[in-house]
Amino acid sequence: MKTDLYTIIEKIESGKRLSREDGLKLLYCQDLSLLAFMAGMIRQRWHPHHRVTYIVDRNINYTNVCTAGCAFCAFHCPPVSDMGYVLSREKLAEKIEETKALGGIQILLQGGLNPALGLEWFEDLFRWIKEEHPIHIHGLSPPEILFLSKQSGLSVEETLKRLIAAGLDSIPGGGAEILADPARKRMNAYKKASSDDWLHVMETAHGLGLLTTATMMFGAVETLEERLEHLLKIRDLQDRSIVGRGETRGRFTAFIPWVYQPAKTRLGGKKASSFEYLKMVAVSRIFLDNIPNIQASWVTQGGRISQLALHMGCNDLGSTMIEENVVAATGVKFSMSPEKMEALIRAEGFIPVRRNQAYEMMEES
Ligand code: SF4
Repeated sequence: MKTDLYTIIEKIESGKRLSREDGLKLLYCQDLSLLAFMAGMIRQRWHPHHRVTYIVDRNINYTNVCTAGCAFCAFHCPPVSDMGYVLSREKLAEKIEETKALGGIQILLQGGLNPALGLEWFEDLFRWIKEEHPIHIHGLSPPEILFLSKQSGLSVEETLKRLIAAGLDSIPGGGAEILADPARKRMNAYKKASSDDWLHVMETAHGLGLLTTATMMFGAVETLEERLEHLLKIRDLQDRSIVGRGETRGRFTAFIPWVYQPAKTRLGGKKASSFEYLKMVAVSRIFLDNIPNIQASWVTQGGRISQLALHMGCNDLGSTMIEENVVAATGVKFSMSPEKMEALIRAEGFIPVRRNQAYEMMEES
């Protein structure tokens, strides 16, 4: 097996693309230090400056009412529940202004698939934010956009055009879970968006000029082969986004693998180990040769493991998350001030730098 992996190292050294078989070998590899070595080579190629980026922003979940009922989700409420909420404008204004006062430059706006909120509601909301409380809106993951498109009877493209005209700036990669339909069916995540649906929304968004991220929630029900399918689909779409626009970089800015949090969910089960997380981070960095940034998930892993992830190919620690509700609903709560974020980065020998959503560096500390 080691011999096989050395042929992969040779491919990496000569800048050759890894095959499906190479990807599987990496996923089955248990030698974390060898994976770290390979991921480090690629990270160094993308980011030779030894900087680690992060962003100051806030997750705002405008509603927890959701008809999708994903089996892995501890956050949502069915429409009939009296625990459901939709945030008022006053509350939203308060959260945005507090974010700005703390140096935040964007909001990550996501919520459940709430039948009471149509496309016009979001158009009004985005226009009001841009007029009254201007800030970058990184919002609505592909399942939410798909839901609005179905509800309004418009195509995904027309829906996105209207949202962009109202103020949508970029799209988060949520709702991808595992882009392999058998795994999506096992998690009850297929009906809200199939793999092709998710990819279609992203490809359309890229075509309309939006930058997006891509995520992977792993460790719930999927096989290693299904994880590889996910990586291949992301890599292929990024290729199409580059070739289609004749540019050198695609419109997926970053890949964010994170571990399924089983507590308080219908699906239950065990949480993947930190070893498994670090392995997946390294394999993502090695295999996704066209994605510039790999983000560590301190929200699910805590500070120490996310520090280790910086040595497994990650070059970004994501958001300080002034507020986070979805993972917190499973009982997993870590907090992170910009000062703490920078101290964690420095402690690993890297230089912390704040960035914006386009991963442009803003200031070195
Ligand atoms: S993950 Fe999103 S779409 Fe699925 S139940 Fe939770 S809020 Fe709804």
